[in-house]
Amino acid sequence: MSIRPLGHSPYPTITGLSARSRLLRYGVAVIAVGVATLLGLYLRPFSYTTPFLFFYPAVMIAVWIGGLKPGLLATVLASVSANFFFLAPYNAPSTDVANLLRTFFFGLTFASICWFADLARKNLHSEAIAAKELAEKTLAQFRANIDSMSEGLLVIGIDRKRLLANPAYFRIHGFDPKYSPDTISSLLERYDLNGRFLTQEEWSTSRALRGETVVQCYQRVRRIDTGTEVIVKNNATPVRDDSGNVIMAVVTVEDITAMKQAEESLRTSEKLAAVGRMAGTLAHEINNPLDAVNNLVYLLSQNLKLDEHGRECVQLLQKELERTQHIIANTLSFYRDSSSPVQVNLSQVLDSVLTLDARKIDGKRLQVIKRIDANLPVMGFPGELRQVFLNLVSNAIEATPDGGKLRIDIFRSRQWQKEEVQGVRVVIADNGHGISPENRSKLFQPLFTTKGEQGTGLGLWVSQGIVRKHQGEIRLRSTTRFGRSGTCFSVFLPIELPETKQKKTTDAKLAS
Ligand code: ADP
Ligand code: MG
Repeated sequence: MSIRPLGHSPYPTITGLSARSRLLRYGVAVIAVGVATLLGLYLRPFSYTTPFLFFYPAVMIAVWIGGLKPGLLATVLASVSANFFFLAPYNAPSTDVANLLRTFFFGLTFASICWFADLARKNLHSEAIAAKELAEKTLAQFRANIDSMSEGLLVIGIDRKRLLANPAYFRIHGFDPKYSPDTISSLLERYDLNGRFLTQEEWSTSRALRGETVVQCYQRVRRIDTGTEVIVKNNATPVRDDSGNVIMAVVTVEDITAMKQAEESLRTSEKLAAVGRMAGTLAHEINNPLDAVNNLVYLLSQNLKLDEHGRECVQLLQKELERTQHIIANTLSFYRDSSSPVQVNLSQVLDSVLTLDARKIDGKRLQVIKRIDANLPVMGFPGELRQVFLNLVSNAIEATPDGGKLRIDIFRSRQWQKEEVQGVRVVIADNGHGISPENRSKLFQPLFTTKGEQGTGLGLWVSQGIVRKHQGEIRLRSTTRFGRSGTCFSVFLPIELPETKQKKTTDAKLAS
């Protein structure tokens, strides 16, 4: 099998066995008879005694190369030539009956030989055609298989020319299959996972060409079309000839960017969970001495010997202490979430969120407008729901300029898609800078942030997960239009979770 270097089709093709041209087939017949005649003329008078000797191989060659018709042509030409040159009278047509009969029998014998030889030739030819068809079918199957692979496949020769590459290989690296092999190698940039630039000598392909088997080699590759980086897993194996010399290398490439990102976000959320647990423990530890401080401040406030200024200080101390206790209580409630859904008052949840964010709101002198139309509880996990609203409110505060507005509306509503599902909708709106259309589609992806080091990019992703867990929906509207910019997040939560509803009906059935 011949393997072609890349052109438009990156696959090998089967060539040969094509029909020979008519000119060649008949030409061979004429030339063979001509050569036999010349040989006979040269070897006179030997050819006068055996006049047909040199025409035997000539006709055989003609029939083998050209087939039946050129064979018959050679037979006729040979009969005429033998009769004319090598039968008496020499160099003139022979009219002698015996000679004419000899010529006739020569012709007859060779016509029959032509027929048999052609049959044998056709037989062989049809076997070759069948073999070719089988090879083409196998090749088509092989091609379909490697075309459908999600892994990239590359076969590279010892001269670093690509012999074969499948569509996934091009897709992963983001280049056009029409590029010549040399251009591609000079365009690609590879790095190890720590961002160190890899020279061509360090590529898995080069290592395999030096005889090394490369297993699970992780690299970052800069895509040629978009310039973005993808993380790939390469395996490369050298292919050797019978004497053990490396003649080519086979490389498989798997794009594991999404997997690595998911791993990374899992690690970050695990880190956040650990930080959260630590915050919970700290809050718990601080709570006890805080109680003691509270009692002491109370005793101090009862001290009648305090002058006016002392009393003012103690009052201030009490107020600040109360605030600290409130924050600690809120922090604790984050991490002491119930294991099954309970009734949650969303208005209270938002109050506690605003308390946690009070310093930021005061710092920016934001105007908070809170409107509660429905005070009905929903079923859910209070700690998780607090996390959702804390993130939405914090995002709104961070996006709003000093003196901006933050509006919180809570009202009874129905689900967008399923009208029959009743619930509560919480709308958090701000008049901040808004979200650009290209960022809007990436908002709920893990790790998407426009806040650089300050952001985690996990807030909305986690929030969406929690809202979905509550069978709710989260939507947004936003505009960046100058003077009218702002963002409005709307969260719908059903009054009852389907499981609790089901449980209630079964309980009711059991009771009746
Ligand atoms: P983080 O706050 O850590 O950046 P989030 O998932 O909470 O992560 O938010 C992702 C991005 O969404 C933010 O970086 C910000 O660009 C954008 N965003 C979210 N809420 C708002 C908002 N109210 N106004 C403008 N941009 C917002
Ligand atoms: Mg956030």
